[in-house]
Amino acid sequence: MFINSVEFAREKDYKDELMSFKEEFLFPQHTDGNPVLYFCGNSLGLQPKSAENALKNELEDWSKWGVEGHFQGKKPWFHYHKFLTDYAAEVVGANPIEVVVMNQLTVNLHLLMASFYQPKGNRYKIIMEAGAFPSDMYAVESQVNFHGYDYDDAVIEVKPRDGEHCIRTEDILKLIESHRDEIALVFFSGVQYYTGQLFDIKLITEAAHKIGAIAGFDLAHAAGNINVKLHDWNVDFAAWCSYKYLNSGPGNVSGIFIHEKHCTNPETFRLAGWWGYKEDKRFLMERGYIPEPGAAGWQMSNAPVFGMAVHLSSLEIFHNAGIDNLRAKSIDLTNYLEFILNDVIEKNNDISFQIITPGNSDERGAQLSLLTDKNGKQLFDHLTNKGVIADWRESNVIRIAPTPMYNSFEDVYRLGQMMLEFKLK
Ligand SMILES: *Cc1c(COP(=O)(O)O)cnc(C)c1O
Repeated sequence: MFINSVEFAREKDYKDELMSFKEEFLFPQHTDGNPVLYFCGNSLGLQPKSAENALKNELEDWSKWGVEGHFQGKKPWFHYHKFLTDYAAEVVGANPIEVVVMNQLTVNLHLLMASFYQPKGNRYKIIMEAGAFPSDMYAVESQVNFHGYDYDDAVIEVKPRDGEHCIRTEDILKLIESHRDEIALVFFSGVQYYTGQLFDIKLITEAAHKIGAIAGFDLAHAAGNINVKLHDWNVDFAAWCSYKYLNSGPGNVSGIFIHEKHCTNPETFRLAGWWGYKEDKRFLMERGYIPEPGAAGWQMSNAPVFGMAVHLSSLEIFHNAGIDNLRAKSIDLTNYLEFILNDVIEKNNDISFQIITPGNSDERGAQLSLLTDKNGKQLFDHLTNKGVIADWRESNVIRIAPTPMYNSFEDVYRLGQMMLEFKLK
């Protein structure tokens, strides 16, 4: 089906309806003056060309209006989040009422756990994946401590089986079932940052609900990568960052999802601040918290408009490309990368690695993780010198993410050629 040739790759690109989106992004330059081969959109996405003007517009409104920019100007800051909500909801398969953009990811995880990790009696445990992203581990650890529990007792980690790298769905479901009276919260990433495994969000949510637990997800590596359907899958809550696949710049704002059944209920507990207060009464500055309906009622602080302006400019591109189109291309492109990598291993005896990301497209997004042997760093450095930006994770994993928004089949082909040139020192 695939061929390792430049003609084949160019033919694929020629037929790719999303190919023109590459033109909307700025690529770093390699020392030879050419654009780098950028395969790091899972870590920090590239800058949309439109970001600069988006930022300038807000600076302009600030200079022109001062404080009155909250109500004047092109996009009044008073309810700035509303300019982003529909697009953000589209990316994660949510109803707009269920989504708001605010704060940053780990902060939001804490706020969501304040609402949805409510241990009672025997039901106080959290099930999560072993080897989760460190921030998630620390967030969960401090949450259980905050409620007076010990990590080792209150957190159940699901591990891969011996000799395996990914976690089997059946093992997750079985473990949830076997602790049916103790679990308060089932908390997983959408796509595992290290292995690239896409968890079965729908099945895990169902299993959690079946035992009376809440299901929450960290979609840092899933948002803008996978076409998730948070509302239809009945997920209770989720949060994600905007700077990985969503291309909104370093450390930028996060999005949250709270299912309609929870977020439209003013009784759902939340830690409150003035920006989530009922909007038409927000500036009356009265005592007694009345939330804005929906996820917007979880906002705390007034909107960081500069970051949100950049995020909006990127979300507009996602809206134009369409998350389903992106996912369809992503599956094809990642399959091509897998094909090229396997071809390279066969042809170049100096290279050895194992792809630990699942082989099935339904269980992965736009990332393949290569578990290398002791010479992996040499290979990685070779690629870096050739102008490839990928990602090295200690102790010996190379992560490569061909993102459908701005990577091409020819990019993947060229990566393969560079690997073929590699010689062990
Ligand atoms: C990238 C990432 C984070 C980063 O959290 P910030 O609060 O944005 O610094 C957290 N969790 C996961 C799973 C991630 O992949």
